[in-house]
Amino acid sequence: MAELPPFEHTPLDDIASIASRIRTSFLSHKTRPLEFRLVQLRKLYWGLKDNQDLILEACKKDLGKPSFETYLTEVGWCMNDIVFMSKNLARFAKDEPAQDMNLTNKFFGPKIRKDPLGSALIIGAYNFPIQLSLGPLIGAISAGCTAVLKPSESSPHAAAVMQKIIAESLDPSCYTCIQGAIPETTALLDQKWDMIFYTGSVNVGTIIAKKAAETLTPVTLELGGRNPAIITKHADPKLAARRLLWAKTLNAGQVCVSQNFTLIDKEMVQPFLREMKNALQEFYPQGARKSPDYGRIVNLRQFQRLKKMLDESSGKIVLGGTMDESDLFIEPTVVEVKSMDDSLIKEESFGPLLPILPVADLDEAIRIANEVHDTPLGLYPFGNKAEMEKVLSQTRSGGASLNDGFFHASIPTLPFGGVGSSGQGAYRGKASFDVFTHRRSVTNTPAWIESMLDIRYPPYTLKKQQK
Ligand code: NAD
Repeated sequence: MAELPPFEHTPLDDIASIASRIRTSFLSHKTRPLEFRLVQLRKLYWGLKDNQDLILEACKKDLGKPSFETYLTEVGWCMNDIVFMSKNLARFAKDEPAQDMNLTNKFFGPKIRKDPLGSALIIGAYNFPIQLSLGPLIGAISAGCTAVLKPSESSPHAAAVMQKIIAESLDPSCYTCIQGAIPETTALLDQKWDMIFYTGSVNVGTIIAKKAAETLTPVTLELGGRNPAIITKHADPKLAARRLLWAKTLNAGQVCVSQNFTLIDKEMVQPFLREMKNALQEFYPQGARKSPDYGRIVNLRQFQRLKKMLDESSGKIVLGGTMDESDLFIEPTVVEVKSMDDSLIKEESFGPLLPILPVADLDEAIRIANEVHDTPLGLYPFGNKAEMEKVLSQTRSGGASLNDGFFHASIPTLPFGGVGSSGQGAYRGKASFDVFTHRRSVTNTPAWIESMLDIRYPPYTLKKQQK
């Protein structure tokens, strides 16, 4: 098998000229023809397929990701998105006629053209390094934008493989990868962009949005979680336990959209914990530590942050709790907490910690969920139909999976994004095309209609006004 390519920071002095090259290519209209975009998408597909083994290895090195998870959530995920986009691009890119036109307006052929926004900067996060970087890039290519991708430096092996794929597969005058951390990203933000697509934390998202506001550059922000799960007394404790455990052990819990905490009806605590123990045993019969199907925390900084969160919690560990710094291993850990002010509820853990807070009833669960974060990225209620409807009608969130952990986010044609402080803008499916597209309203006034237009020209005679 080919060797993993090295991760090297892009020289800071090169960044302005690279950004300018990508912008010039956009202005040359090279990316406008659909055929050009389709060829680039096809090449990206084959670049992913040809480098599949390298991607699996890179994600194992960066996050200890099981190969099956990497295939499902990174390689196969992006390849499916490309197939979907390629099949539907002509339809998405077609002009749309204006709606509800009266007869007169029809003569002007009012329509919406789908124009590319321009040259795009895409900044990725580390947890799904391929998907969160190439997913937006697929949208940018489809819409006819040129793009610079800045992957996360925290998953350097995956970043280097993406750079290789982009360099080998795509038109280098239109798409490129810049590697680096804060200095390189800051230098990138100093360049002129027509759109910035950022995935990552709320803190950095705020920096990006402020910087973009200086030049009125549109931004899409895919931000952090602090998502509640709610278990009512009518929920099935076995289903809730298995599904929420899955949602917190995939990628060792480093998933923006997984539940950050669970509000559970006090009557359900014991049955749920019993089922959680069974589910842990079923998923990892030899224990998570020895399982080839359980990942690791991305780096020491994140490991220590999670450890500190757990140390500062006043909750009681009821399942799991072991850690090994040398291996960046944290066992799936269920903690029963006493209050919504606990560190495990207030902060985003972004790791395999599962705090549960017993509540009196569904009303209390909804009140606490709204108080902790009134616009989380996701929401996961378990219960009966009427309870689901009540939760949806009394909360807000970017998306929601009823009776499951974050499953809505795996449906490739559902737009994925936050609301309020969990983000703005959405992508995936058609939304990936739309988010990089300007809907340009166009009319065409025929010459023969001039006499009918006379009414709009001054002088506004009484005769005209009475027409
Ligand atoms: P992060 O914000 O630390 O880093 C994301 C990107 O921002 C990286 O490319 C990084 O180089 C860059 N960056 C970091 N500091 C910067 C600065 N000061 N100025 C400019 N750029 C900077 O996020 P992360 O640690 O990679 O990911 C974890 C966070 O991202 C969590 O909060 C998680 O919920 C969120 N996330 C959200 C989504 C989503 O789709 N909504 C997906 C994944 C992760």
